[in-house]
Parts: sequence; structure tokens; C-alpha cells
Amino acid sequence: LLQLSIPLNFIGFLYREIRQGLTDLEAMFQLLGQPAEITDRPGAAPLAVQGGTVRFEDVTFHYDADRPILRGIAFEVPAGRTVAIVGPSGAGKSTISRLLFRFYDVTGGRITIDGQDVRDVTQESLRRATGMVPQDTVLFNDTVAYNIRYGRPEASEAEVHEAARMAQIADFIAALPDGYRTEVGERGLKLSGGEKQRVAIARTILKAPPILILDEATSALDTHTEREIQAALDQVSRNRTTLVIAHRLSTVVNADEILVLEKGRIVERGRHPELLAKGGLYASMWARQQEASEAEERLRAATADG
Ligand code: ADP
Ligand code: MG
Repeated sequence: LLQLSIPLNFIGFLYREIRQGLTDLEAMFQLLGQPAEITDRPGAAPLAVQGGTVRFEDVTFHYDADRPILRGIAFEVPAGRTVAIVGPSGAGKSTISRLLFRFYDVTGGRITIDGQDVRDVTQESLRRATGMVPQDTVLFNDTVAYNIRYGRPEASEAEVHEAARMAQIADFIAALPDGYRTEVGERGLKLSGGEKQRVAIARTILKAPPILILDEATSALDTHTEREIQAALDQVSRNRTTLVIAHRLSTVVNADEILVLEKGRIVERGRHPELLAKGGLYASMWARQQEASEAEERLRAATADG
């Protein structure tokens, strides 16, 4: 019996260790949203970032061969500029961000950064140069501090705290039982969508990469918090190549170019005033959002009175 119980204990220990590893690995893949088959090609060189000009050249993509998702996507984000992508849900916006980060490979055309095809550079260098705040953040099963510092492991404690402050999450963390050492994720404290989003924003602020991808980065936040964080995001994106996918059009009025995506095609493009003047899809989306936010204001005013 004794002989048996030791190995069983050990197996239990191993099982827990492996489970833990698998959970982290799962979280990692979920976080990266990446199928395991994307690998460095033999002799891949590190990405050499000059200004960080991003180009999509006639990019097509499908997850399943019988269902095209992106058709002939062509645009450029010049070094240090901001390009916004807007459009109905399901249009393919997040897919564009995943391709730039190389979670998947394009099925036609190519994506380059400063002239280098993202398939020809090491993934490690590509991911070091780019920072993404995804639509749905999955946190690591670790402390809050670890989750923020992941953006730049060598960052000091003061820098981690400063990033948290800019992302409007510092007060929340300070009120946690173990502060920055509080365990979060699957096995720890469950954070709300908005809290996770702010942790991801803090991580990206800390990382301050030359290329920034914001995929509806503030969608889970209330209007007030969104406005506060927007200032921090504007600051990080200044002089950095930024691809911003926006659900609230008010956040992209200053973009250097706005791409309107519908069913995997760019159907309109230009700056905010030009797109409004065109009276097309963008103009109608804008009108709808203006109405919605006015209704929200009226509701708030009415509730405040009563
Ligand atoms: P958006 O961000 O504009 O809402 P997405 O890029 O997320 O759109 O999705 C575009 C289309 O691709 C949608 O129809 C979606 O259902 C499909 N899609 C997204 N991810 C996958 C996937 N991993 N496998 C298969 N289809 C997917
Ligand atoms: Mg999306």
C-alpha cells in the first residue's frame, strides 16, 4: 500500500504540474489566438524596424477554403501614422489585426513591415516590435504585476505602476487584497471584461512598441473610463505606427486614414470629413452612433433629474 501511495502521490503532483502547464499553454495560444502550424522559416532573420511602415498588398485570406474572409485588401500605414478600420461586425477587421501579428498566414498577397514580408522574419522579433490590445483579453494565470510586466519583463516596479495609472487600473489594483501580487486568471481573481482590457492596455503602454494594434481596445469600458484611457492611448500611439480598429467612431475622427470594411472588402476610404461628405456607409454609421449617444445623454439627464 505504501509502495503504491507514493507513486500515486507523485502522479497527482505530476498531473497538477502538467495541468498547470497546459492551462498556461492554452491561455497562451488563446491569448495569441494562434494555430500551432505557424513557424519560423529556416534562416528567418530578425525584423529590422526602421520607421515601422506597414503595408498590406492585395491580401486575401480565408479560415476555411470555402469561405473567403478578406478579398484584395490593400493599404499602407506610413511610419508613425494612424490608420483606422471600421465596419460592421463580422467584416474581417480583427482578422486583419491577426494577420499583421502573424497568428495566421495570408492566403494571397503579402504583408510587409519596412519592406520585409512578415513570413520571412522571426516571430519573436515580429512580436517584440508589435503590441496588440486584442478585442478579448485572456490573462495569464499569474499575478497582476506579471500580467502587466509581460509587456516588458525588465521594467521596474515604478514603471509597472505608472503604466497601470495611465490605463486607469492603479486604484483598482491598490484595493485588491494582495495589490499587484494578487493572482488573476482562471484560477485567481476573475476580472471583468473592462478590468482585463485595462490590464492589457497597461501592458501595451509599458511595452511601447513601434507598431501598435488596438482592436476595439476600449469596447468593454464605460464612456467616461474610455475617454480617460483614450488620452493615454493617444499618447502611446503618437509617432508610432498604429492600426486602430474602432467600434466607437468618435475615437477615430483624427486618424490619417479611415478604411471602411464590409464583407472582407474596403468599400470606402479617406479622412473623417471626406467620408461624411460622401454620404455612404461611414456617414450612416456615424449618424446612427450620434443618435445613440444623444439618446444615452438624454437618458442620463432624465435619470439624474428623477
Ligand atoms: P470583425 O472583427 O470585423 O467583427 P472578424 O475578423 O472577427 O470580424 O471575423 C470575420 C469573419 O471570419 C466572421 O464571419 C467570423 O465568423 C469569421 N472567423 C473569425 N475567426 C474565425 C476562425 N478562427 N475560424 C473560422 N472563422 C472565423
Ligand atoms: Mg473584431
